[in-house]
Amino acid sequence: MAIFEYAPAPESRDVVDLRSSYGLFVNGEFVEGSGKPFKTVNPATEETLAEVATATSDDVDRAVQAARKAFGVWSALPGSERAKYLFRIARIIQERARELAVLESLDNGKPIRESRDFDLPQVAAHFFYYAGWADKLEYAGFGMKPLGVAGQVIPWNFPLLMLAWKVAPALACGNTVVLKPAETTPLTALLFADICRQAELPPGVVNIVTGAGETGAAVVAHPDVDKVAFTGSTEVGRIIARTVAGTGKKLTLELGGKAANIVFEDAAIDQAVEGIVNGIFFNQGHVCCAGSRLLVQESIQDELLAALKRRVATLRVGDPLDKNTDVGAVNSAEQLAKIRRLSELGESEGAERWSPACELPERGFWFPPTLFTGVAQSHTIAREEVFGPVLSVLTFRTPAEAVEKANNTPYGLSAGVWTEKGSRILWMAERLRAGVVWANTFNKFDPASPFGGYKESGFGREGGLHGLEAYLDV
Ligand code: NAP
Ligand code: MG
Repeated sequence: MAIFEYAPAPESRDVVDLRSSYGLFVNGEFVEGSGKPFKTVNPATEETLAEVATATSDDVDRAVQAARKAFGVWSALPGSERAKYLFRIARIIQERARELAVLESLDNGKPIRESRDFDLPQVAAHFFYYAGWADKLEYAGFGMKPLGVAGQVIPWNFPLLMLAWKVAPALACGNTVVLKPAETTPLTALLFADICRQAELPPGVVNIVTGAGETGAAVVAHPDVDKVAFTGSTEVGRIIARTVAGTGKKLTLELGGKAANIVFEDAAIDQAVEGIVNGIFFNQGHVCCAGSRLLVQESIQDELLAALKRRVATLRVGDPLDKNTDVGAVNSAEQLAKIRRLSELGESEGAERWSPACELPERGFWFPPTLFTGVAQSHTIAREEVFGPVLSVLTFRTPAEAVEKANNTPYGLSAGVWTEKGSRILWMAERLRAGVVWANTFNKFDPASPFGGYKESGFGREGGLHGLEAYLDV
């Protein structure tokens, strides 16, 4: 039950100049695709936003050729000149941030509060950060030779931010790119293409090819691509690893996760509750590093769960464009079906399901914030990535047990530790098999900080100094 009532406060859509159809961005121009166009919808209303071109393997080939040609020009520029373009792109992103944020929320379903206050500032920060490296590569220690054409395939959960993570370091190092956004969220990548034109980036340095998985497969398999960067599911990551094996292409994979958020009895409960909520309900839980397994020390279980439920009951689910919305729409009907299926399994396998009373809109794809208590490690919801607003709660007694349970997953992307004791944080961080360990916070990002996984969460690092290595011939 919501404690507060607010008047609706929707952001205006007028700032976005939505076209009825979009082409591919190849060699600095928007061109038609040879495949059958597809529709992208607003998941909060199921309204069709636009028709988008499908790139066939011939179209992908044209994009790769454009990128190859541009590579000669781009890689020959002094780093200080490449930096000017990247700084310019970063500034235009800031100038057009409102337009980008509204479009991101429309196409993806995430709350405007997040697209405006998290995604867009991070996107600009990534371009600023890597612009700063472009003329300092000799100090990075990975050599100064770019790889060539980078083929990049990204998912739908942070469409523009995943683009920034891929495009900014690639360009800073002197590579050119062919990027495929996800089928359900292509629009901000196409607006980014317009920003590249506005910044007068040389044609062919950035190419955007839209389409479904087949288009992504064509990018990955293209013989003239030198580097493949993929973010998405472990399943597709495996297919890509097989395609790329033995070709000499350099590969980075950012895959799924099943992070443990570990709360010790000495933690500040109110802060931990905020961290747990942020960890799992941020972006509807469509976060690879989401804190989807809460490990709580048995002695504080009752107190923590009571506080958590009180807090979750205040979350506002609804119109993503409303400034007061905390939890927006699930990105697609397909993803909603997956969340439902796994939640039903959670119940039938014996965990206890709880959601606050909340009214969900009739149209669109919605799932209420959900907790499962009494979860055993063998339950499907404790093992599989739900990628939705669903938290599994498990308990532990000793730090050693917490480590064992946290590491009992094929994934290894991130973890959170909540405790007063600095020594315990270090003890835990040494033992947790996760690429990122947050202490007394969760889901904190900075372009200077590398991000990436262990085990089935993938390999390679994005962000920071380490992120340059993936785009240089070391
Ligand atoms: P996905 O199905 O693997 O899709 C990711 C991208 O790959 C999409 O653009 C997709 O196109 C494309 N694709 C599909 N099949 C392909 C193929 N055979 N060859 C090449 N490309 C192909 O993943 P998703 O469901 O969109 O995203 C959710 C997953 O991403 C979760 O598992 C999440 O954990 C992971 N993720 C990881 C990170 C990280 O940094 N580790 C960050 C964000 C998300 P379509 O859109 O047309 O299917
Ligand atoms: Mg969409």
